[in-house]
Amino acid sequence: MSQSTTPTVSLRASNGAAARATALSKIYGAGDTRVVALDEVSVEFGRGRFTAIMGPSGSGKSTLMHCMAGLDSFSGGSAHVGDTELSGLGDRELTKLRREKIGFVFQAFNLLPTLTAIENITLPMDIAGSRPDQEWLDLVVGTLGLSGRLAHRPSQLSGGQQQRVAVARALAGRPEIIFADEPTGNLDSRSGAEVLGFLRDSVRELGQTVVMVTHDPVAASYADRVVFLADGRLIDDLPTPSPEAVLDRMRRFDGKVRTS
Ligand code: ADP
Ligand code: MG
Repeated sequence: MSQSTTPTVSLRASNGAAARATALSKIYGAGDTRVVALDEVSVEFGRGRFTAIMGPSGSGKSTLMHCMAGLDSFSGGSAHVGDTELSGLGDRELTKLRREKIGFVFQAFNLLPTLTAIENITLPMDIAGSRPDQEWLDLVVGTLGLSGRLAHRPSQLSGGQQQRVAVARALAGRPEIIFADEPTGNLDSRSGAEVLGFLRDSVRELGQTVVMVTHDPVAASYADRVVFLADGRLIDDLPTPSPEAVLDRMRRFDGKVRTS
């Protein structure tokens, strides 16, 4: 993790946000190849909320997620997961933080093909040497409609079912926050709607916190709030989004924010 160029407030008590960024900057390259991927982004993701991050291709959505989840270093500002400030952590501590406090869902599912669904779901906990809370696991598996599929391998499951296994894996350890990067990008619209419904249920019924990157206004409308990025800056914040409101907001950016 690179050193911040601006002072960070590492002792500040948690303000209730599951994660937050303060003037977070990320610069790739130098000279002719210099790209400001994040330009002093400040944002908080509230506990028990489902937030969508939207913006055109290249606007910095994945970079913001990766920096806030401790998957990538940043160039300036600060990022917290709960009370923990990320720029102060070494590689080993970051690995531990990701394992214990963060759940991930990726576009490509990222399941291990040789393991069954339940083995995939509990793998991160097995690696961490922690015991799954069986009651919670049953609740997650039941909520995601996977009870009858636990002995199946990924190749025996549809794309939607595989992504539900990935969501269950992210939920299994009851993380502080789940980051999902285009989780429905590889799914047909029906399976996509199913996965989005389950992500929403995990927030409303299981009390989890989800942050989802998407370029789809319908997907974003499942969230409680949508934040919009353009050119590495946070340009808007929309509470209680409907698909129409999201589309309207995108039009008002005058072509600046397009679906990618
Ligand atoms: P999004 O997820 O919104 O499509 P990204 O966060 O992937 O956008 O990228 C933001 C900007 O940073 C883009 O201009 C992209 O080209 C640049 N970028 C991303 N990753 C790298 C990298 N590893 N090296 C150089 N530039 C990068
Ligand atoms: Mg991206």
